[in-house]
Amino acid sequence: MPYRIAIVGSGTAGPAAGILLARGGHEVTLFERAEKELAVGAGFLLQPTGLAVLRELGLEDEVLAVTQKIEGLYCETKKGKVLLDLEYEDLQRELFGLGTHRPSFLAILLKAFREAGGEMRWGVEMTEMSLAKAGCFLKRSEGGKEGPFDLVLVCDGARSHLREQTGISARVDRYPWGALWFIGKRTPEFDPGVLWQKVGSTRELCGFLPTGTKDDLLSLFWSVPLDEPLPPMDEWKEKVLALVPQAEDFLQQVQSMEQLQRASYHDVRMKKWHGERVAILGDAAHALSPQLGQGVNLALVDASVLAECLSRYGLQEALETYTRRRKKHVGFYQFATRWTTPFFQSDHKVLGKLRDLTFPLGMKIPYVRKEMVMTMAGMKTGAFSRLESTGEADESSARGGREEFGKD
Ligand SMILES: Cc1cc2nc3c(=O)[nH]c(=O)nc-3n(C[C@H](O)[C@H](O)[C@H](O)COP(=O)(O)OP(=O)(O)OC[C@H]3O[C@@H](n4cnc5c(N)ncnc54)[C@H](O)[C@@H]3O)c2cc1C
Repeated sequence: MPYRIAIVGSGTAGPAAGILLARGGHEVTLFERAEKELAVGAGFLLQPTGLAVLRELGLEDEVLAVTQKIEGLYCETKKGKVLLDLEYEDLQRELFGLGTHRPSFLAILLKAFREAGGEMRWGVEMTEMSLAKAGCFLKRSEGGKEGPFDLVLVCDGARSHLREQTGISARVDRYPWGALWFIGKRTPEFDPGVLWQKVGSTRELCGFLPTGTKDDLLSLFWSVPLDEPLPPMDEWKEKVLALVPQAEDFLQQVQSMEQLQRASYHDVRMKKWHGERVAILGDAAHALSPQLGQGVNLALVDASVLAECLSRYGLQEALETYTRRRKKHVGFYQFATRWTTPFFQSDHKVLGKLRDLTFPLGMKIPYVRKEMVMTMAGMKTGAFSRLESTGEADESSARGGREEFGKD
């Protein structure tokens, strides 16, 4: 039965779910508070799990055309000791990540959403949600209601307003450390096929992610404590160059601190991601720090699993199955991210020393190394369990099933 579905938030989870549901014959309206499609957002690393969903959406070629193939992750200490040198290929041939420029990616999703018959409404901020006999209603910030809807998808990000309106309890913690980021033209010192990072103590981390073949862009991430004021530009550049001298040419593109954006990270825990006529997806449901680079990918898998549940079951059963199927995969990455982040971003310098001792040892043990690659690829569901290979995931998607993202 076709449903009237409202989606709040046009980041990743919202448009991806919108495409699948509009194609499934539902009447879908996507509400976004931004006035228009904005060219903002830090670059991100799309993992094989996220790419499998894009393949299912038929958007793989379009995405490949505007992204940069990333073969692996490299991380070294200030003294040049290799902490991580992980290649997707070690897990499976032809597995790779994609350095992605957010605006190009969003443009592809939104085009597909419109083509599927979805309705896009810009400049609409939803502040309240209420349930009535006729369905679910949404209240706009400037007044006025939208609805009734058979189903509302809450996809409004880590700082979601609607999450608490669902009545489902949530614990939201802000990490004390975040990042400054800047997107510029890649300079030749940085390999286009690698996410490259360098760390000092746990207070110093700098990352460079190539994000897009079209304009040959590079995203720089610099770790910052959120409660301290930003230093003046020259002082900041000096700190970056003390850690990464080869960034000198790249940093010439920064003329003022206003070109840098500051991002905060949140940790969101919920026992379930559905209620009556409502499902919560992406960061609104389970935000985590980007240390393991999984947020966009988890959001894409959420969208895929929810759409599949809705195609198979009645509304309430579909929502319950959605929560159940996402538990292990999301739970693993929330746990692993919480555990790993302080080794790279915190005030606990002793963790930095421990990291510098143990990570290189782990890299020498083939089993541990393989587990690390699998974790990076987004494929773990527990300490000793994993999703099936993405190759099998594709076959399963083609058959109309997605058991690889959690069996009933
Ligand atoms: C610096 C940084 C680097 C990252 N790197 C990676 C990476 O490499 N790989 C990765 O997978 N993830 C990464 N992430 C995480 C990733 O960005 C998020 O997990 C992902 O964007 C979540 O998508 P989403 O759709 O759930 O939410 P969002 O992308 O946050 O989108 C939410 C949308 O909802 C809109 N909205 C909010 N409130 C309302 C409202 N009341 N009414 C209407 N609209 C509303 C917002 O304007 C926004 O467009 C990174 C994050 C940061 C900050």
